[in-house]
Amino acid sequence: MRIDKLLANMGYGSRKEVKNLLKKGSVSCNGEPIKSPQTQVVPGQDSVTVFGEEVDYKEYIYLMMNKPPGYLSATEDNRDATVIDLLEPEDVIFDPFPVGRLDKDTEGLLLITNDGKLAHQLLSPKKDVGKTYYAVIDGKVVEADKQKFKEGVELDDGYVTRPAHLQILSSGNFSEIEITITEGKFHQVKRMFEAVGKRVSYLKRISMGKLALDPDLGKGEYRELSDEELSYLV
Ligand code: URA
Repeated sequence: MRIDKLLANMGYGSRKEVKNLLKKGSVSCNGEPIKSPQTQVVPGQDSVTVFGEEVDYKEYIYLMMNKPPGYLSATEDNRDATVIDLLEPEDVIFDPFPVGRLDKDTEGLLLITNDGKLAHQLLSPKKDVGKTYYAVIDGKVVEADKQKFKEGVELDDGYVTRPAHLQILSSGNFSEIEITITEGKFHQVKRMFEAVGKRVSYLKRISMGKLALDPDLGKGEYRELSDEELSYLV
């Protein structure tokens, strides 16, 4: 990667400002001052310093967000705020995007990264990653619903869902449930409950595969994944 791009990505200024830093001899690579903005460096391998301070450069970022309601899972939108609007500028410079979509009113675990390959793998239907949601349902969820979800239900467009695991946490006029699905059709959980005559009034994703939402993250908060959490995804 070109040194000027790397330093601009890391927030050391515009390409022009970075060029000036280089010209003044403030930047070194493996102990040698470098002046050309075209110098190629290998992130994670070459040691780059600016004013003698090591640049902690990484190519990819992996963030776990507790998505709040009211935000779109998109990078930009003309009308609504997006989850990217919740990020600090030092994270936005990596050009991250949300992996998959949660509805505007859905909360919970959302992965945000700039690693296109990982995103593609996670979204692939072949990957079979179980996504678990906690939901509040208007109406009484019963054992028969569990069986129907296990067998697959027919959605409004005729699509029959893959087997899903339903756990009833409480059942009454309102019911609390957890559901695990391995696919991500548009409004899938809401449409599955519609297929059994019920309405989802609250929906929150709590895990994707082995990756669980950190309970310490408040709505709209996020943090980087640990190496261990990242290993669950690849
Ligand atoms: N299913 C839905 O209906 N909505 C979501 O946001 C996620 C899964």
